[in-house]
Amino acid sequence: MKVEFFKHNIGSREIREVNKILTSYFLTTGQEVDKFEDLFSKYLKCKYTIGLTSCTAGLQLALEAFDIGRGDEVITTPLSFIATSNAVIQAGAKPIFVDVKEDSGNINEDLIEGAISKRTKAIMPVHLYGRMCDMEKIRKIADKYKLKVIEDAAHCIEGELNNVRPAMLSDAACFSFYATKSITCGEGGALSTNNKNLAEKIRKMRLHGLTKSAAQRYEKKFSHWDMEEFGWKYNMDNIQAALLINQVKNLGKYWERRDRIWRKYESAFRGIDGIEFFEVPDSIKHARHLFTICVSPDKRDNLIKKLNSQGVGAVVNYRPIHLMKYYKNKFGYKKGDFPVTEQIGRRTISLPLYPKLKDKEVDYIIKAVKKYV
Ligand SMILES: *Cc1c(COP(=O)(O)O)cnc(C)c1O
Repeated sequence: MKVEFFKHNIGSREIREVNKILTSYFLTTGQEVDKFEDLFSKYLKCKYTIGLTSCTAGLQLALEAFDIGRGDEVITTPLSFIATSNAVIQAGAKPIFVDVKEDSGNINEDLIEGAISKRTKAIMPVHLYGRMCDMEKIRKIADKYKLKVIEDAAHCIEGELNNVRPAMLSDAACFSFYATKSITCGEGGALSTNNKNLAEKIRKMRLHGLTKSAAQRYEKKFSHWDMEEFGWKYNMDNIQAALLINQVKNLGKYWERRDRIWRKYESAFRGIDGIEFFEVPDSIKHARHLFTICVSPDKRDNLIKKLNSQGVGAVVNYRPIHLMKYYKNKFGYKKGDFPVTEQIGRRTISLPLYPKLKDKEVDYIIKAVKKYV
């Protein structure tokens, strides 16, 4: 049997919508993007969404828009995809890591205050694997020190904790529609916020800081555009939006299927010697983005190889960022700096989790994992 690590949900409906765009005149940012942005904001119950080319772009733009850069520090987690802290470096600021919690892998809120200096300008939490960080706690710390909060919500469109969802308590939340995310257009992202000024600024900054988008130039009577501030080339196009719209409508359906698979994994692995996983209290709505188990560090890589040889896709999310060569050289981080992150990074394995995964395949994965552990 061959069980892919991930399969996307793009089907005939999405292909039809993309075809419509391809046979129209307008391929770049236009009405289809507007439609996607409205739908996504409605789903999150927030005011504004700006379609971008990636989540990384959103994180960087948010920092730039708040004038956070050279000489500034941003507190974030070393247990994430490198995009999180790379975006801080792209903006010109310095990422300051804080260790994570043993029971979730999320940034340890209790360690944040100790990492704040005079240069600190923002906190960038990651809702790892789809579990929301405690945003009320983080917001409180941020307010006390007048810091911005920018969420890396690449794993967490659907998550909720104490009625708090992404973009609700932060200054901005950034999402990814990369190939293996819960909804995808190959490459893509978005920034959501309730801050009108920020939304207007980001809307310009995603396209060279121009006062008019191509769509506005096309639709309206002729008039010159101006460049009011510096910007980048991070605008989502109509093709990407066409791929995403129907997927946004199906977020709930997709989540339910992943939830069922998740519970199947939990009941199969609970109490098994040599397998651990993060228990999630029922009061939390977990976005169910990545299901991970932890095994003994000396067995981890071998287990992945064995699963792969049985046709099962399995990966590591994540090896600690601070131990990546560039980060060690540039910032002087070293082994032992963030022990909880390192412990998880040595032991974690992500198993397949997506709506198209069949029960039969889930059983096969469970059997293979149990056999080799
Ligand atoms: C995928 C991912 C990103 C980057 O998303 P892009 O859209 O590829 O820029 C950032 N953070 C986390 C946690 C991710 O998983």
